[in-house]
Amino acid sequence: MFDNLSEKLGGILDRLTGRGALSEADVDAAMREIRRALLEADVALEVVRSFTERVREQAIGATVVKSVKPGQMVVKIVNDELIATLGSEGQSIDLNAVPPVPIMMVGLQGSGKTTTTAKLARRLTERDKRKVLMASLDVYRPAAMEQLAVLGRDLSIDTLPIVAGQQPPDIARRAMEAGKLGGYDVVLLDTAGRTTLDEEMMTEAAEIKAAANPHEVLLVADSLTGQDAVNLARAFDQRVGLTGIVLTRIDGDGRGGAALSMRAVTGKPIKLMGTGEKTDALEDFHPDRIASRILGMGDIVSLVEKAAATLDAEKAAAVAEKMRKGKFDLTDLRDQLLQMTKMGGIGGLMGLMPGISKMKNQIAASGIDDRVLKRQVAIIDSMTREERKNPDILKASRKKRIAAGAGIKVEDVNKLLKMHRNMADMMKAVSRGKGGPMAGLAKA
Ligand code: GDP
Repeated sequence: MFDNLSEKLGGILDRLTGRGALSEADVDAAMREIRRALLEADVALEVVRSFTERVREQAIGATVVKSVKPGQMVVKIVNDELIATLGSEGQSIDLNAVPPVPIMMVGLQGSGKTTTTAKLARRLTERDKRKVLMASLDVYRPAAMEQLAVLGRDLSIDTLPIVAGQQPPDIARRAMEAGKLGGYDVVLLDTAGRTTLDEEMMTEAAEIKAAANPHEVLLVADSLTGQDAVNLARAFDQRVGLTGIVLTRIDGDGRGGAALSMRAVTGKPIKLMGTGEKTDALEDFHPDRIASRILGMGDIVSLVEKAAATLDAEKAAAVAEKMRKGKFDLTDLRDQLLQMTKMGGIGGLMGLMPGISKMKNQIAASGIDDRVLKRQVAIIDSMTREERKNPDILKASRKKRIAAGAGIKVEDVNKLLKMHRNMADMMKAVSRGKGGPMAGLAKA
């Protein structure tokens, strides 16, 4: 799976990780190689562009972390961007609706629709313990209906009896009726495909959708068709509306162009992937696992993650020590604010301090959220070193200068200073008294 792409990216990144230092020119050269590798993998041009641009920006702006080589840092950045491009959080089939939950499968003929219908039915039955009814709506190819019936018999999963002469929307309604009467949890509707994307197929799919009101509309697309699969998804989504994609034949896909472009171009998640002809060859699509399969550099990624976490912990401990000694200046506050943004808000150091949880609410009430955090960092950035060390010297004219520098009002500067004072006071209050909560912190 994605072997060609994996080999190319691996080679490029291997050369980078060996180096002790990386110049901007080195990063640019690597980005050109990555760009070529992605284009050869048939990834959509717009996706390639934004991918390399984001990686480049981060690679150049990356903070140097002790014990990590710059090249290893780039591997981590590429890894994270791959995950983001593939769709960040994996999404699975949503069965959260009143049963029988209708799921409609659409796609071109030969894409693996009927096989995938059987695969999904099998997984829902065996793994999720649901009672599943499958229905073929392919009135053009009697062999297709028979194919689903055979698969159903093999798997001991019910299929809707075939009634000759019925139109697809009527079959859909009959399937839903049978689903209700038979106490099924899920009804899978396997619609007819054509060899090419045509208006007739779209119209029919839209009619079936109106008749069955499916909870999921899944496009089954052959990953080997690369950008055609992506264009197909876009067309189906505009005309019929999709909730997700199933990419088939991933087992034979050396390039990965469809997988990497699908989410970014269509905005629709890849929910499942077909990895073989057998009915158990169906897997969830986990962007993080796919990214690590493509890069094959899991060790480096976890090394960088660990190093970054260690650095954060060291910084936090250093700030805590300063707080304990009552030497918490605005540079420390700035570090702290950045830390909080990284840790997703107010958690940060506060969370590490025993006995301080009550104050979290106070700080939250003072209105620190991510937007505010960023603005506050900008305010501190506009101060001189002396001002950061000794905020008491900040009188009206200095405040005015700082406000102008950060593009905000003087009252925002005052708010920040007040917050710093409050925090410093809190620290003093907590550290007062022998063996107070801060004593435990110092040891930790
Ligand atoms: P449909 O016309 O869209 O219903 O396509 P079928 O379900 O009949 O599948 C067409 C062919 O593709 C069959 O030979 C399947 O065994 C094969 N196929 C389907 N999914 C996969 C997959 O994920 N991997 C591989 N290798 N073959 C698949």
